[in-house]
Amino acid sequence: MLSTMQDVPLTVTRILTHGMTIHGKSQVTTWTGEPEPHRASFAEIGTRAIRLAHALRDELGIDGDQRVATLMWNNSFHVEAYLAIPAMGAVLHTLNLRLPAEQLVWIVNHADDKVVIVNGSVLPLFAPLLPRMPSVEHVVVAGPGDRSLLDGVAPRVHDYEELIAGRPTTFDWPEIDERSAAAMCYTSGTTGDPKGVVYSHRSIYLHSMQVNATESMGLTDADTTLAVVPQFHVLSWGLPHAAFMSGVNMLMPDRFLQPVPLAEMIERERPTHAAAVPTIWQGLLAEVTARPRDLTSMARVTIGGAACPPSLMEAYDKLGVRLCHAWGMTETSPLGTMANPPAGLSAEEEWPYRVTQGRFPAGVEGRLVGPGGEHLPWDNESAGELEVRGPWIAGAYYGGVDGENLRPEDKFSQDGWLKTGDVGVISPDGFLTLTDRAKDVIKSGGEWISSVELENAIMAHPDVAEAAVVAVPDDKWGERPLATVVLKEGAVVGFENLRTFLAESGVAKWQLPERWTVIEAVPKTSVGKFDKKVIRKRHADGELDVTVVV
Ligand code: ADP
Repeated sequence: MLSTMQDVPLTVTRILTHGMTIHGKSQVTTWTGEPEPHRASFAEIGTRAIRLAHALRDELGIDGDQRVATLMWNNSFHVEAYLAIPAMGAVLHTLNLRLPAEQLVWIVNHADDKVVIVNGSVLPLFAPLLPRMPSVEHVVVAGPGDRSLLDGVAPRVHDYEELIAGRPTTFDWPEIDERSAAAMCYTSGTTGDPKGVVYSHRSIYLHSMQVNATESMGLTDADTTLAVVPQFHVLSWGLPHAAFMSGVNMLMPDRFLQPVPLAEMIERERPTHAAAVPTIWQGLLAEVTARPRDLTSMARVTIGGAACPPSLMEAYDKLGVRLCHAWGMTETSPLGTMANPPAGLSAEEEWPYRVTQGRFPAGVEGRLVGPGGEHLPWDNESAGELEVRGPWIAGAYYGGVDGENLRPEDKFSQDGWLKTGDVGVISPDGFLTLTDRAKDVIKSGGEWISSVELENAIMAHPDVAEAAVVAVPDDKWGERPLATVVLKEGAVVGFENLRTFLAESGVAKWQLPERWTVIEAVPKTSVGKFDKKVIRKRHADGELDVTVVV
């Protein structure tokens, strides 16, 4: 029997139209480095998005599913692009401006980008690469910057404001199949080559609803979210589209991502929510410890992208800011789990839930698979690789213009689930705890040591600012952990002390690292995660001064 319900496609077009009318007064505030930030209402942003769509179609010839790329910070221009490009049936391709030049060029060519909208401030990085991007026919420059850098290297250059000025304020949007491509992001390649993930209108729509759900970020038009997580990193964890759906005000830091301006924007604009990777919160913590600021408006923070050390959560609890741990990947849109504890618990009872990666929302199913391919029980003890499926989880990677989409065996199971490459356990009530990335886990004498657990234990020491643990070859055990430690300013502490501290905090004796080194900073990837590839290489090249303590 067929249902009697209307079959209305779930599209970004609906999100745009809804946000600019029903939530027309909500605002996007962008930091500019000037005394006053830039402010625009959803109604204004929606109208400008419509004008941008006209410009892209009538002036630049985008009339189908061509890729329109963005190389931009988090700001209101970028929000306009997020709405206009998918709504007109084209594909928004967000480019990560922190990638090495080679990867950026490779990605633009692979995606066959026709137009690049770029912030003026990013031109010094972008202009020299353009001659190697033959598919790019138009460059649109938004915001201040030296446009002369494009002389002689860009086919056609447009100024964003001039391009959209005076264009119509309504658009006869095309009928879009909700399963068609709306946006694409390449994985940041922490553990391999970048791979293209293509989101559909439907996946973005459903994901946005889940982001706003009370059991996830629980945002409404009473909230202002500080979106530190870049718009080029998994669509800013879905926040801009989710915000337009529920009228959530947005505070956008543009390129001012350093601890001092972040502290200033929080104190001045008083966001109620924020989202960023642990590195950002570590940096901000050091700043507000040195020069106290009022962060209390920001009652809730979504933290993910890498494991959040429990010590960081405790430190923010003391500042009146509650970090809520979330797990996801480019392939999962990214919301995969969120660590809101079950109802009715005391603060003490909540703690063991808060330090997990969280539980799956209704749209995401998870399972654990053991080394022999067997499905493992949810007993909080059996560790295996996490596999997930759901309407906003990737089922393939983009294969290129003439290629078929790719389903590599190491990334997708026979029955179509995504193999996440993350190893962990799940509790009987569905809370996921990741112990490591499959590629980072230390395989010592047939047993696994979690690099993340060791890092968390070391980072709990009061003299330690950051710590990264990697596997290094060992004649006897195959692999052993190497602890690389960044000490807090002025701190002096012996490795013996750190080892004793770990033993006392419950790390099993056979897991205690023998190899230690102090480094100045943990190398980070383009999206601020620990770059263990670099540490392993430095060790292999003999660049690290390792002390052995037993
Ligand atoms: P990349 O794989 O290139 O780093 P992603 O941004 O897609 O790009 O990263 C996804 C990965 O980040 C996950 O597979 C997982 O290993 C890690 N990750 C994300 N959130 C968390 C978290 N809360 N705890 C631990 N690891 C996390």
